[in-house]
Amino acid sequence: MANLGNPQNTIEIIQKYEFRFQKKFGQNFLIDTHVLEKIVEAAGVTKDDMVLEIGPGIGTMTQYLAEAAREVVAVEIDNNLIPILQDTLSDYDNVVIINNDILKVDLEALSKEHNGGKPIKVVANLPYYITTPIIMGLFESNVPLDNITIMVQKEVADRMQEGPGSKDYGALSLAVQYYAKPEIVTNVPPNCFMPRPNVGSAVIKLTRYPEPPVKVDDAKKMFSLIRASFNQRRKTLVNGLNNAPGLHFTKDQIVEALEKMGLSETIRGEALTLEQFAELSNILK
Ligand code: SAM
Repeated sequence: MANLGNPQNTIEIIQKYEFRFQKKFGQNFLIDTHVLEKIVEAAGVTKDDMVLEIGPGIGTMTQYLAEAAREVVAVEIDNNLIPILQDTLSDYDNVVIINNDILKVDLEALSKEHNGGKPIKVVANLPYYITTPIIMGLFESNVPLDNITIMVQKEVADRMQEGPGSKDYGALSLAVQYYAKPEIVTNVPPNCFMPRPNVGSAVIKLTRYPEPPVKVDDAKKMFSLIRASFNQRRKTLVNGLNNAPGLHFTKDQIVEALEKMGLSETIRGEALTLEQFAELSNILK
């Protein structure tokens, strides 16, 4: 089977199977060999690795992954793509195709079955409508992870690696940075996809930390504090946390905690680092 990473071969497959792109599944297929090579290289895939690919589409990146990895497990939601994948990947005996919604797959069981519980690599040109649930699902589950190397909307990639002081800093930045080290690999313009998305894209590599970089007694509580402070961005942290449904701290308790940390009671949540959110969460009992 020919390499799909170019417009001619992609068009040929689409016409052969009379495939219709479905917007609701975020289908924008890669048609640029340089970008494909860069993604697989950045992920550091070797013949020891099992790679989970989310949304293989017509199998373009899957072909590259199958060359580099020991085994590729590719989860695709669109039934219409399954016969196409069986055709485009017929040369590879190290690819398993699963027809399912990635958010419904038991990834822990899958990594046990295919990789004996050793850390897996996740590589994907993600469907953008579910970027955050996919990433958070991976981090919060018990799937052992080495790295997640993914194509996302450029703006979302920026948000993942920002710190305090940027307008893009928010709950996603803190969640990602609690679990992993983010690095933008490359920016990718719309003309590298078919059809072209109407946003810019970027490849980001999230390397999982063996241990989170901050010590926190109750990570769940810290994330409720983080969400509450960014839900009400223009309020002071004291008011944001005091008004948040589900949190039961008095103003005095919050002011006292901030004082202990040497922070002003008029500070906003968006000025706090991950370390400071961890400290606040540990103080607020
Ligand atoms: N990997 C291919 C490529 O790079 O050309 C396709 C990428 S396309 C941006 C996203 C793919 O994810 C599509 O094939 C789409 O059908 C699939 N997809 C969308 N939602 C999904 C879900 N919930 N679970 C699994 N796959 C999904």
